[in-house]
Amino acid sequence: MPRGYVFDLDGTVYLDTKLIDGAAEVIQYLKDRGDRVVFLTNKSISTRIDYVNKLSLLGIETTLNEVVNSNYITAKYLMDHMNEKDKVLVIGEQPLVDELIEENIRITTNYKDATYVVIGWDREFNYEKINNAYQAWVRGAKLIATNPDRTCPINNGQIPDCGAMIGALEGATGEPIEIVTGKPSPLLAKYVMEHILRLPPSQCYMVGDRLETDIRMGIENEMNAVLVLTGITTKEMVEKAAYKPTYIIDSIRDIIAI
Ligand SMILES: [Mg+2]
Repeated sequence: MPRGYVFDLDGTVYLDTKLIDGAAEVIQYLKDRGDRVVFLTNKSISTRIDYVNKLSLLGIETTLNEVVNSNYITAKYLMDHMNEKDKVLVIGEQPLVDELIEENIRITTNYKDATYVVIGWDREFNYEKINNAYQAWVRGAKLIATNPDRTCPINNGQIPDCGAMIGALEGATGEPIEIVTGKPSPLLAKYVMEHILRLPPSQCYMVGDRLETDIRMGIENEMNAVLVLTGITTKEMVEKAAYKPTYIIDSIRDIIAI
């Protein structure tokens, strides 16, 4: 039976705009021997096509069905749950709106019409937006967030990510947002294993650099969880971690040793 590899992107396959040494070769090697590969990112401010283009430019030939982001999985969730009267108010950037529309999700900009509110990373987040989301919630709209990441690493530091928008809304409602579709959600793990890799969890390898998203999702969904040390996690951090990886490797390059 083939193996299925789920690769996180930033910190695992590349660092910002620089490919991790050997990543392109090892991914090609896995594909050539018949294994299946999918790339997974929580970032909601770029489209799947943007990632196909970025990976291809870096030397990793990629097709659209090999890339899953949190926008796409949010659209899949909505398609499964919405009826024909439902409409979605979006707090997020244009790529999130575009990818929901691409999957035929009905969008509204009026909170009075919204039966769902989708919250993603929004670098133009403001009081009007949070008030709209809150007023929709007061009228019974269900809240969905794209990803739980508190921050996103950039050159020389980090900037607030979707977790900050979630925090603002939870501060207003006094309730946790129950549906967060990106890593480490079981919704996402199951979708990838059943619909893209089409393999049982024991044949799947979740490879990433973050303990609380990549490794946690792998462990909780009975996949092999592989930590790479090319991103934000060090070996010392693993000792104190709640979610311990099945394997630790220095770099994606070493994946074939497993
Ligand atoms: Mg990462």
